[in-house]
Amino acid sequence: MTQASKPAWTWPRGQAAVSLTYDDGNEDNLDLVIPDLEAVGLRATFYLNTGNPTIHRRAADWRAAHQRGHEIGNHSIHHPCSAKAYTNAGREVPAWMKHTVESHTPATIEAEVGGAADWLDANIGPDPDRTYAYPCGAMAIGDPPDEKPYDAAVLKRCFAARGLGGAVNDPRTTRLLRVSSFHGGGGDGHRLIDLCAKAITVGGWTVLYFHRVGPPGTETTQAAHKILIDHLRAGPYWVAPFKTVARHIQKHQQA
Ligand SMILES: [Zn+2]
Repeated sequence: MTQASKPAWTWPRGQAAVSLTYDDGNEDNLDLVIPDLEAVGLRATFYLNTGNPTIHRRAADWRAAHQRGHEIGNHSIHHPCSAKAYTNAGREVPAWMKHTVESHTPATIEAEVGGAADWLDANIGPDPDRTYAYPCGAMAIGDPPDEKPYDAAVLKRCFAARGLGGAVNDPRTTRLLRVSSFHGGGGDGHRLIDLCAKAITVGGWTVLYFHRVGPPGTETTQAAHKILIDHLRAGPYWVAPFKTVARHIQKHQQA
């Protein structure tokens, strides 16, 4: 179908959708990001690795964030990436991170996604809309790589998932297990605003992913993040957690 022949799309409000997502459960997400978001009335998605001891220590805070309307999403137990991603990272991989996607089997990836889902249900609270984020954007397991068993494992527990990809999502054609996102690290807030503005021209959905947020020198500075969220509060966007936008798309793609 050509662009012109696709049916028109409308969002519940605004001209485009934006979801802010934060990976790996860094403590600055609880201590800086969530207070800053709530100060401007926004809610976001936080993807946790349930094998990370830091997350266990702050489980009560993550649960409270969930109860205040943030999505606490599934990012697996042990954060399996490709062996190459770990080699290229040039840093020590923490002890709780185990297994590369290449070494996973259909049974072990199902245990990986399902075990994280069980931990989140028990410690954060059940959420039938909870979504998944593929660690490092790696979506295939085994050697040769196969996406099917990983998708099947995700679909058992989550209806939608975020990859990387660096593109605005067209809600008319987006596959909900292949939602694309932009890296929110580096630069000042205006680069992040531009990534959101890209969605306006096509009526699409921009998803940003962050890790650490903090003082100058951090992957995303708190100052840049504040510039972004101040803009989003006032801009022509529907800003909502990943799961909320994904459910909206699912409903309207099926209609
Ligand atoms: Zn991650």
